Amino acid sequence: MKVKDFTFNMFGVNTYVLWDSDSLEAAVVDPGMISHEEEHEIADFIKRNDLRIVHLVNTHLHIDHTFGEEFIHDNYGVKVEANPADSFLGEARQAQARMFGLNLSPLPLSIDVELNNGDKIFLGDECLEVMTVPGHSPGSIVLYAPQSGFVLTGDVLFRQSIGRTDLVAGNHSQLVEGIRAKLLTLPPETVVYPGHGPSTTIGDEIRHNAFL
Ligand SMILES: [Zn+2]
Repeated sequence: MKVKDFTFNMFGVNTYVLWDSDSLEAAVVDPGMISHEEEHEIADFIKRNDLRIVHLVNTHLHIDHTFGEEFIHDNYGVKVEANPADSFLGEARQAQARMFGLNLSPLPLSIDVELNNGDKIFLGDECLEVMTVPGHSPGSIVLYAPQSGFVLTGDVLFRQSIGRTDLVAGNHSQLVEGIRAKLLTLPPETVVYPGHGPSTTIGDEIRHNAFL
């Protein structure tokens, strides 16, 4: 599976396009585009590579990861996929915008397809395994691609850091326990693509992440 990383909006969210190079079936993960320029950038990439978007996946529903939800939904006809424990965040998008001091009026976002622990998302013959790792938000998930050896961690795990747990319904010990049980047990060479900042590997985080 191929991976393209974009960094969008004032929060520096990593939006990923994943695709299977045989079928060209693709997924957009965490659409953070907030401006027309950012929308154009991702649309142009999808078009140039002839990709067919078949999934719109959210690692969680904090507003910075969802600014571009409507753009992807409307342009490619894909449904919003996320863990149901974050549905309250999708409904409270306006309140989230206010909390971050943003002069925006986002519409509430509802989850069309519920992603739960153990679910599989297919792109051609390749698959992404859904693992729930709550604590940053109650519905945070990570997406593991075993054949390709990478994992998208959203705001669960960053290079030498972990997700903040001081937001609504955060839980620090739950987050650390989940990372230890579900992420640090992956093969050490697994590449970690986080929701903010540079990529890393599971092995590097076992050695260098002071939060774990
Ligand atoms: Zn977040």
